[in-house]
Amino acid sequence: MTHHLDAIDPLAGFPSRFIQSDQVLAYLDGNSLGRPLTATLDRLAGFVAHDWGSRLIRSWDEQWMQLPLTLGDRIGHVALGAAAGQSVVADSTTVLLYKLIRAAVDARPGRTEIVIDTDNFPTDRFILEGIAAERGLTLRWIETDPALGATPELVADAVGADTALVVLSHVAYKSGYIADVERITSITHEAGALILWDLCHSAGVVPTELDAWNVDIAVGCSYKYLNGGPGAPAFAYVASRLQPELRQPIQGWMGAADVFAMADGFRPADGMRRFLSGTPPVLGMVPLHDMVDQIEEAGLEAIRAKSLALTAFVIEFSDAHLAEFGVTVGSPRDADHRGSHVTLQHPAFREVTQLLWLRDVIPDFRFPDGLRIGLSPLSTTFAEVELGLNLVRDILTELAG
Ligand SMILES: *Cc1c(COP(=O)(O)O)cnc(C)c1O
Repeated sequence: MTHHLDAIDPLAGFPSRFIQSDQVLAYLDGNSLGRPLTATLDRLAGFVAHDWGSRLIRSWDEQWMQLPLTLGDRIGHVALGAAAGQSVVADSTTVLLYKLIRAAVDARPGRTEIVIDTDNFPTDRFILEGIAAERGLTLRWIETDPALGATPELVADAVGADTALVVLSHVAYKSGYIADVERITSITHEAGALILWDLCHSAGVVPTELDAWNVDIAVGCSYKYLNGGPGAPAFAYVASRLQPELRQPIQGWMGAADVFAMADGFRPADGMRRFLSGTPPVLGMVPLHDMVDQIEEAGLEAIRAKSLALTAFVIEFSDAHLAEFGVTVGSPRDADHRGSHVTLQHPAFREVTQLLWLRDVIPDFRFPDGLRIGLSPLSTTFAEVELGLNLVRDILTELAG
């Protein structure tokens, strides 16, 4: 397959580094589960044979005890704009959200509200409901335009002297809207509150400057654009200035000051280690190294440029060939506010998605009528996107006829 946009793509050498399969004609869901790199086959085999098989328990001392912090720092450096000592890999996004939201609201005693938007991802909303009940806090919901997300104006209206914490997504999981992290963070700070950014749909694909933007706390997945594999552990960022005041609620031995002192009482470790709880999921962190290497080699600016070219291509195709069937674009057309997926809308898209999957074209469906086209720039070619969208048009033609 060739396409003129692939021919001029400066990152054209990357897609062939991912495992290819004759069961995949077009993979349009890299924002849900990134594809594995071929290099990961060798890395996993080497891990089993050497790190685990030969070094055995010695690997804990030699590297694994530090791995949540060293890998966290690498993700921080390559993808988050975070200086060393502020990132860690652990748990799942859901569990890290719980630990850090609890820590954050406890660090703002006397303030009674947590602000979140109605369109945020279910796990973020559910965790907040639970913590609000546990701590006697109130949730203040920002009603967002589903085609957009949380704007600085909406946040300014919602925060005040009662706000303990604001929880928002950098890129909205439905529309792909990119929030203005720097301005919203500053508005939140002016109200005396803390902010937690969910980076699940931006890490590895949208340039992010957590230090420069003065962010307090961030959490994100590593199996979406960081291609860590199903169930790969999540990452968290806590600004250095905040680390000493935050106490997370799952205080296990791995977050204690001296792990092997087997002390009588819990004293949190200094730095990011205090956000760990139990034994780190070392095996789940192995594949992550390969994608972080690719992102570093390609550079986030080049990745962002290709991401914008891919999303623009989808929008142009939809306007030219799908609009006549009643398909609309549910993502921002403005490049500055567009993440790396495009949601197309049509009442038949649930059925269309099932037919696409049967023919090895794999986007995902988001209730009630969204076909979400996820574009992971390093593994996705323009040719496969065009092939996939042509099939969407063919199926809509069949259904209409
Ligand atoms: C994917 C995603 C999650 C997933 O959380 P898990 O604990 O990994 O299941 C959470 N929040 C957002 C915004 C997401 O996009």
